[in-house]
Amino acid sequence: MRKLRPKSLKEIVEMYKKQYDENYQLWDGRCSNDVLRELLALPPKASSKQISDVIGNGGWAQHVCAECSTYFSRGVAFGYDAEEVLVCYSCIRKALKL
Ligand SMILES: [Zn+2]
Repeated sequence: MRKLRPKSLKEIVEMYKKQYDENYQLWDGRCSNDVLRELLALPPKASSKQISDVIGNGGWAQHVCAECSTYFSRGVAFGYDAEEVLVCYSCIRKALKL
């Protein structure tokens, strides 16, 4: 089990650069360079929400909860590597009340 923390803007920018070639046409019609430029214009301590808004979905800055299927920044990963199950704090709090 390990604690999940929000990914930093720097980490996400690096991941984004690896994922998309320059001038890649995205599904929503935007160009990857424009999204990258907007990401780099964010403050270094930008929130997961701010980063997700620029990219257009929560998949880069956040995790998906295995229990409630919503995006979250802070939670816990159970298991190891490919077997990992990610759960948000909200669901963990609910589980403690059972
Ligand atoms: Zn959840």
